[in-house]
Amino acid sequence: MPPVGGAGPPVSLYVHFPFCVHRCHYCDFSVHRTHTPPLAEWLDSVEIEVDQWFALAGWSRPIELQTLFLGGGTPSLLGADMSRLAEVLRRSFVLGSDSMEWTAESNPASLDEAVAKSWLEAGVNRLSIGVQSFDDDVLRWLGRLHDAAGARRALAAARSAGFENLNADLIFGLPSSIQRAWRDEVEAALEAGVTHVSTYGLTAEPRTPLGRRVTAGDVNMAGGERYAGEYLAAVEALEEAGFVHYEVSNFALPGYECLHNWHYWDGSPYLGLGPSAHSYVGGVRAWNVFRWAAYRRALAGGGSALEGHESPGAGESRLERLWLAFRTNRGIAAEDPLAESVVTHAGDLIETWREAGWVVRDEFRVRFTAEGWLRLDELVTALGCRMPAMTKENGLREGDGVRESYRA
Ligand code: SF4
Repeated sequence: MPPVGGAGPPVSLYVHFPFCVHRCHYCDFSVHRTHTPPLAEWLDSVEIEVDQWFALAGWSRPIELQTLFLGGGTPSLLGADMSRLAEVLRRSFVLGSDSMEWTAESNPASLDEAVAKSWLEAGVNRLSIGVQSFDDDVLRWLGRLHDAAGARRALAAARSAGFENLNADLIFGLPSSIQRAWRDEVEAALEAGVTHVSTYGLTAEPRTPLGRRVTAGDVNMAGGERYAGEYLAAVEALEEAGFVHYEVSNFALPGYECLHNWHYWDGSPYLGLGPSAHSYVGGVRAWNVFRWAAYRRALAGGGSALEGHESPGAGESRLERLWLAFRTNRGIAAEDPLAESVVTHAGDLIETWREAGWVVRDEFRVRFTAEGWLRLDELVTALGCRMPAMTKENGLREGDGVRESYRA
């Protein structure tokens, strides 16, 4: 069991809904394929997990949450049963305060106006739709169930139901054999009235059908030029429309940034429920078993769904801290002890990157540009190699202003 007795309560809660009616070719998430999700078992498991965490950490009920995120999987398969989840969670958490952000993910194939309205009534106030593309050929190649018209219908249904805080996920960086008018697709999302866009580069994970086709040489993933070209085209289109590029993959109109994601990046404590979910509580990271069947079996049998936990060491914390800070447009603030260390030990690198247009440095902060974010891993690794170990003496250790956590 993770050593979290006496830890402060989480400010964010993630709940994983691990069911989809079909598995997309590129997906390696924790997904159980079914047309009839076992809702009663899933809700029962969520409730057991909540009880276990409260007993383990010694928290008092109810905990007031700042954010709740229902991800998947395909949460829109819940339909109007979102209210049943709300009922379970309300036994332990305060939901629905004016300032609380409650996001739910959905797929165009299972979202209509009636479902969207029932979610608003249950308390959801931010909707994220897995659009991925507005091109029928691209959607077919990705193995998605919806077409472009279905994506437009879902976005329109969400708007007319009353969702104004609305995200569209889009995928770029497809193999060069697949032609598409990418910038037009980004603009189609804007025309649909979204207030937030997340753009993800396609990756070929080894365990997926796509990964196996790439390994076999049947598919060549996008080259660097196409990947960078599409990324920067999205940045340009969205910034022209007034969106702020506030994190590597995320863009929002002012006031519509995803608070839940910020909590992952700024080191706030969060609880994750459901198969594959991660938690960060009391400086300890813990994660659940990946598969639904193993998760359900463990909880129904009176056991725990936790698979492991760890407390990051100083070396790991340093790199993670740099990586998290540079993922967002806040970068590292000048008054942060880490900024002084970066400038002392890697000032020449920062200057070279500034001249290349990858970094901006002023009296307030050091942060990456979109061009820099294209090289994020490479640049942060180079910085990490130059930095001294984190110690209490140089002010880089937890407790001296450094916070750490990341959940992918
Ligand atoms: S809908 Fe999403 S979670 Fe479900 S299989 Fe496709 S990519 Fe994976």
